Amino acid sequence: MRRLHLRIMTVLCLLLPAWASAQQSSGFFKVTHVAGNVHMLEAPDTDGNIGVFSGPDGVLLIDDRYDRDTENLLAAVRSVSDAEIRFVVNTHVHPDHIGGNNNLAAYGVTILAHDDVRLRMLTELRIPRRGGITFPQPPAAALPVITYSDAISFHLNGEEVRVFIAPPAHTDGDSFVHFRGSDVLHLGDVFRTNMYPIIDVYNGGSFLGMIEAMELAIEIAGPDTQVIPGHGSGVSDREGMQEVLTMMYDIRDRVANLVAQGLPLEDVMAAAPTAHLDARWGQVPSWTAADVIPIVYEELRALQNSVPANP
Ligand SMILES: [Zn+2]
Repeated sequence: MRRLHLRIMTVLCLLLPAWASAQQSSGFFKVTHVAGNVHMLEAPDTDGNIGVFSGPDGVLLIDDRYDRDTENLLAAVRSVSDAEIRFVVNTHVHPDHIGGNNNLAAYGVTILAHDDVRLRMLTELRIPRRGGITFPQPPAAALPVITYSDAISFHLNGEEVRVFIAPPAHTDGDSFVHFRGSDVLHLGDVFRTNMYPIIDVYNGGSFLGMIEAMELAIEIAGPDTQVIPGHGSGVSDREGMQEVLTMMYDIRDRVANLVAQGLPLEDVMAAAPTAHLDARWGQVPSWTAADVIPIVYEELRALQNSVPANP
């Protein structure tokens, strides 16, 4: 930890003028107090929002963005706490959520994730954006040293932090994090407030699982629960989750109706079943209706084919 403190002092010295003048900004990351012991770090692109749980017992991070962001991440954490950074939980395997692992591990931080996240880190990662993108296998130092199959709890800073596996949704290794005392949820990329849901079908994701996972999160949340999305600007809440769920029900029902008519995918695309939703949810160029509809279509069609016809 001595190395970590030395490094942080260097970072703080470099950033001090900007840091001192704006308490809620560490420079790169926008720092927002969510509730209780939890802060959210938001990068300018609002991808890979980080949760910071801090108090006298130490700091627990939820996700750590990219390798290149670690110095900024440390500076942002230091703007809210000078306690030791002890743990990082990866909500899932994507590079914008695990990229800082090796840097943090070098500082002695313990990395945790679901079993499947570690398994998928033992090889190169392929994701279904724009016909398939690959990312190199992460270095050995980035691997989680503690994994769980179902759930794990932290008992720190006077409250329980419950980390548990969600139904297969964005991937098959999505963890939800529930800060029970602070009444905050971090849902990783199962919850995006700025775009259609990304279903990583190369890594076990499921659109219907996404719906199930969001129903579960809404069931857990109370009226005052604050929710950190994996992507999207600002903290959300139960109403924000309900808005996303309503959008997903709408897509499911419209595409299911077209599937039930036996239409091929090209006719379903031509019918533009999400035309009324695209202005709100389909504006991120790398993941639009053209990406999400085929995934929903294939999943619903496979489901239809697996149900035996009435005798
Ligand atoms: Zn992701």
